[in-house]
Amino acid sequence: MAIALQARVVFPVDRPPIEHGVVTIEGERIVAVSTKAEAGDVIDLGSVALLPGLVNCHTHLEFSDLRRPLGTPGMRLVDWIRLVIAERGRRDYAPEVAIENGMQESLGYGVTSIGDITTVEMPAPYFPCVDLTLFTEVIAFSLARIVSALVAVQGRLLIQQNRNSYAGRATGDIHFGISPHSPYTVSSGLLRGLVALARERELPVAMHVAESREELELMDSGSGPFRALLEERSMWDDDAISRGRRPLYYLNLLAEAPRALVIHGNYLDDEELQFLGANHERMWLVYCPRTHAYFRHPTYPLAAALTSGVRVALGTDSRASNPDLDLFAEMRHVAKAFPSIEPHTVLRMGTLTGAEALGRDAELGSITPGKLANLVAMPLDEDAPTSANELLNSLFANDAMPSAVWLRGVKV
Ligand SMILES: [Zn+2]
Repeated sequence: MAIALQARVVFPVDRPPIEHGVVTIEGERIVAVSTKAEAGDVIDLGSVALLPGLVNCHTHLEFSDLRRPLGTPGMRLVDWIRLVIAERGRRDYAPEVAIENGMQESLGYGVTSIGDITTVEMPAPYFPCVDLTLFTEVIAFSLARIVSALVAVQGRLLIQQNRNSYAGRATGDIHFGISPHSPYTVSSGLLRGLVALARERELPVAMHVAESREELELMDSGSGPFRALLEERSMWDDDAISRGRRPLYYLNLLAEAPRALVIHGNYLDDEELQFLGANHERMWLVYCPRTHAYFRHPTYPLAAALTSGVRVALGTDSRASNPDLDLFAEMRHVAKAFPSIEPHTVLRMGTLTGAEALGRDAELGSITPGKLANLVAMPLDEDAPTSANELLNSLFANDAMPSAVWLRGVKV
């Protein structure tokens, strides 16, 4: 039976907002978007904005049980990574529980699709409560480890995909990808192998690139605090990294993947942003606004990225560098930090562009007939301003939580 949801304003995202819009859903799918109910019972949601389910393109759900971020704001990334390594070793680690909690927390914030980096073999419940893309993380710096790392990731993909074939499709959905961790933990030889594997299997690739100055220093000179960290951990290999490289070198390798998510990119220069813009058919930049702010990097090159035609999606990163998994808070942060960027552009970053980055835009990311009915209702002030843009601005200016979330047509 069809259900029609009426809202003060509907933001389909792939087309202009609809005042007093009605979204009709049947089963798990959207069947109509208009200004009047076409069939079935009409449920008046009242003074709310109805949005597509939000898409968090980058997190590490296995840290979702942390009560607060590790370290202190403004610390060097390399020192924070030491804390992450210590944290992994310290606790009686139950990643499955943290991943499940992280998905539940995300749903409460209206996040219905997640791109998650995972280090564990059996990383998610059989029936994830959100649409999930699991990127298997690969860390192996020395050239001697290229073959064993490639064999290991193929084994993990096999386990994941076998399990998925009998896991069914209860609520959410599981998809897979590969995550070469970063230029300071994966040699360029291994990265080439992983990208070739991604091509063979038609998988997306997600890699942390140009996240810190120290990473750029290592690529340029082969020295600095990341070299010290790798030496400490007996991972350093002098032949694994050529000198005089910029992130552009890695972007060129990633451009060979079926689709590539460039995570962070805090220190990409104009040439590199133009490269991403020129390759926007298969490359996305994933900005993690509050994590970027936690490390006090210089202003994010968001305006330059958008001007260069880069498709920018959003991520929370993990609760090791962010207090929660609230993607709406990331959009609010962007709207506040970049007032010259249209609010609708910010909304697209947190929804449709994220779905495109994960390769899920045929099913998700906008309120479009035929797509899955993943929806979020955000309460509006009673005396809310009239134009749709002003309504969106007012949502970005307050700190309201969703009043309702639908996943595949079911209110959760
Ligand atoms: Zn990350």
